Amino acid sequence: MGTDFVEDWTIVSTLGEGAFGEVKLLVNKTTSDAVAMKMIDLEKHPKASENVQKEICIHRMLNDPSIIRYYGQRKEGHKEYIFLEYAAGGELFDRIEPDVGMPELIAQKYMRQLMSGVEYLHKKGVCHRDLKPENLLLDANDNLKITDFGMATIFRVRGKERPLETRCGTLPYVAPEVLKRPYRAQPVDIWSCGIILVAMLTGELPWDKPALDCPEYHKFREEQFPSFSPWNKIGNMALSLIYSILKAEPEKRATLDQIHKNRWMCHTFTSNDEKTNCPGSPKRKCYGAGFIDDVDGKICQSQPESLRVSNINDVATAVTHNTNDIISFSQPTHLDDLLLSTQLHFTQSPVNQNHYQKLVKRMTRFFVNTNWETTVQQLCDYFDKQSFKWSINSGMVTITTMDCRNMQLVFKAHVLDMDGHILVDFRLSKGCGLEFKRRFVKIKQHFQNIIVKGAIDTLWLVPTK
Ligand code: ATP
Ligand code: MG
Repeated sequence: MGTDFVEDWTIVSTLGEGAFGEVKLLVNKTTSDAVAMKMIDLEKHPKASENVQKEICIHRMLNDPSIIRYYGQRKEGHKEYIFLEYAAGGELFDRIEPDVGMPELIAQKYMRQLMSGVEYLHKKGVCHRDLKPENLLLDANDNLKITDFGMATIFRVRGKERPLETRCGTLPYVAPEVLKRPYRAQPVDIWSCGIILVAMLTGELPWDKPALDCPEYHKFREEQFPSFSPWNKIGNMALSLIYSILKAEPEKRATLDQIHKNRWMCHTFTSNDEKTNCPGSPKRKCYGAGFIDDVDGKICQSQPESLRVSNINDVATAVTHNTNDIISFSQPTHLDDLLLSTQLHFTQSPVNQNHYQKLVKRMTRFFVNTNWETTVQQLCDYFDKQSFKWSINSGMVTITTMDCRNMQLVFKAHVLDMDGHILVDFRLSKGCGLEFKRRFVKIKQHFQNIIVKGAIDTLWLVPTK
């Protein structure tokens, strides 16, 4: 059914990049249904195969409002496709202002939703093991949804818990016992939630890894009430919750139950509330996003299912009822053509707001009033001035540099002609997300004379919450 893809579903844009491939947004031309398609190239990443099967196997058994819904999968040649609920609000990450964070009221809402998702997972016997703001997505109503089960594992079967052995996760978010092994499942997810809360409240990560040879972690362990950044940006109530979570000994760490009942979690914040007792000046600091993964023991690897659909609701139904239909997304071709033509189509039909809402809501982009060629030229001149290494391929500039902790940072700037409006869209490929956002803020400042103010809101009509 090679034509079905072209007739019914169109790739609108790239939503994100992961370790093993890209995630694309597909929109149904007739129904406007949107779905996220995670693509993994097993030829390029042969080691990913077993992990992908495990990811599918775990994700398909989950069904909760705080988890991105799994619709189905398809394998074509050496490419594996996973179809997921589309999170129109983008990453939680995008709501965190570097070095500042977000208001407590909003952080509390996300933290409550995160804890509810983690509670669901743990009840199911699933440990996520890679909780971080890049893996927490937001739907169109600004509700948090957990995704990316690539590192997840089953830690409890028929009431019997097993200790975990694999060192995996993202170093700044990982619990100290993961580096030592073996470790208990639930406390390591809870630890990551503590780090996420620090990131939400301060726009910083406290350390690059939780080991005593890391000076920031060492200092945190030594001092009872650290007076340095990021701790001095956090109010006492939140700080007390964070301390109870970031306990080095897993058995002393707060449990989900204790977190639910915590004073900060239950406090009624108003939008006028300021963070109290946090006199610290925002200090600039960055941490590398070191990445570790080796593969855990094998778990259930059932036969991949196949589905035939013309509407994404059918995908969900077919998954739920386990029908033998076959999914009909054929291999996409000419991605760039599809991308451009679909986006042009959207900008030419402003009456259909539904379409706009399907577009990606990302803060790391802006419209400019210069033409395509000048924009590309000015970007490249700027990157040269910053001594960034860059390469260009059809309007996509890939920038490679190092962050201040000497970790590699790779990001992309895509210059798109959207029906005469030039959009510059930035995306992180590799490295620390907060550091990427800091670079973006600098780039935006540099280009402020040519940036069209308010253009994203008026041209894209995405829901602003
Ligand atoms: P990594 O292992 O590097 O974390 P990955 O290959 O497992 O990445 P994901 O984390 O699942 O891939 O997705 C990468 C990015 O794609 C996300 O951080 C997010 O920006 C975007 N993304 C993924 N799934 C969706 C979705 N359902 N809706 C919207 N955006 C998504
Ligand atoms: Mg991810």
